[in-house]
Amino acid sequence: MYAKSKDLWVFVETGEDGSPVSGLDLLNPGKELAGKQGGALTAVIIGGNNEAAEKACAECGADKIITIGGEEYARYTTDAYSGALGYLVEKYRPETILIGATANGRDLAPRIASRFDTGIVADCIGFEVEEETGNLVCMRPISSGSMIVSCICPGSRPQIASVRLNTFKKSAPSENRAAERIREKYHVQADSIRTVILEVINNKSARANLEDAEIIVSGGRGTGGEGGFVLLRELADVLGGVVAASRAATDEGWIPSSSLIGQTGKSVAPKLYIACGISGALQHVCGMSDSDVIVAINRDANAPIFEIADYGVVGDMFKVVPAFIEEVKKARA
Ligand SMILES: Cc1cc2nc3c(=O)[nH]c(=O)nc-3n(C[C@H](O)[C@H](O)[C@H](O)COP(=O)(O)OP(=O)(O)OC[C@H]3O[C@@H](n4cnc5c(N)ncnc54)[C@H](O)[C@@H]3O)c2cc1C
Repeated sequence: MYAKSKDLWVFVETGEDGSPVSGLDLLNPGKELAGKQGGALTAVIIGGNNEAAEKACAECGADKIITIGGEEYARYTTDAYSGALGYLVEKYRPETILIGATANGRDLAPRIASRFDTGIVADCIGFEVEEETGNLVCMRPISSGSMIVSCICPGSRPQIASVRLNTFKKSAPSENRAAERIREKYHVQADSIRTVILEVINNKSARANLEDAEIIVSGGRGTGGEGGFVLLRELADVLGGVVAASRAATDEGWIPSSSLIGQTGKSVAPKLYIACGISGALQHVCGMSDSDVIVAINRDANAPIFEIADYGVVGDMFKVVPAFIEEVKKARA
């Protein structure tokens, strides 16, 4: 397919209450990329009620906002969303589409690519635009993160990329910023939605939601084993946070690899990241350095983690963490 416009689209996913769950962060790099492509930065929202998300997209820099709303979109289903987004792509034929690599985004992006017989680059962590061709150069890790490759999909449009969560930071919202709003209508027949969601069971364990956590207590080789993580879990519990780990700890099997932060794991940007017994290797730091406040607890005063920490405690984590827990409990009492 050829592109009708040079616009760069960002798919902004919303929750059932209509608030954005991913995509606002992508408007930030999207602005520069759209400028380089010579098009408008366009937020695309599909949902039950899009008003809150429309406002947020305008405030976060979208030039245009295209929406499709309706009851059938209140909760994500593959058929309804791929039908609606496919309809918009067919109509507007944008140059590029960025989609956050949430569970739904990872479902939606390849379906759109397949429908339009175009390329997709998954799990991207950086972008450039080739000046001569307008091709989007997508950077993504391969071979367990040991290499970063640059990929292009030159043959067709739109170019589609799914983007690793928490790779980019949302820009500060500019209140009452205006954007062109286009409300489209696309109705999906109920009987063409093949997936029926009978019940949604939220995983109440905050541990499962590392990427959304506001507080992360992370442990490395310095935890010394599973026992060290019991202590960190206690700290996480009193703070209302989630436990994560460095690769040294996940490789040892002290904690599941789903908790790994870094180049081969998850990228996170919580309000508070407490690194306990973690040296601060580059491959770890690249996954957490966007945290608002970083606290490092390490017995080696020369550990590189202190170079990026906002607060550092030089000491044995088995003494520091229990004292920390006691202080938090006292403050909360
Ligand atoms: C291709 C590739 C990809 C990688 N991807 C990742 C990745 O995604 N994530 C990741 O984390 N790593 C990754 N790594 C590994 C990375 O290079 C480091 O080896 C790893 O992060 C080190 O983990 P660590 O800091 O827990 O251990 P170490 O580097 O061994 O550091 C342990 C720290 O604990 C401190 N310590 C020890 N005992 C105590 C105590 N009682 N109290 C306080 N401090 C104590 C020590 O002073 C030390 O600083 C990758 C490596 C490669 C080659």
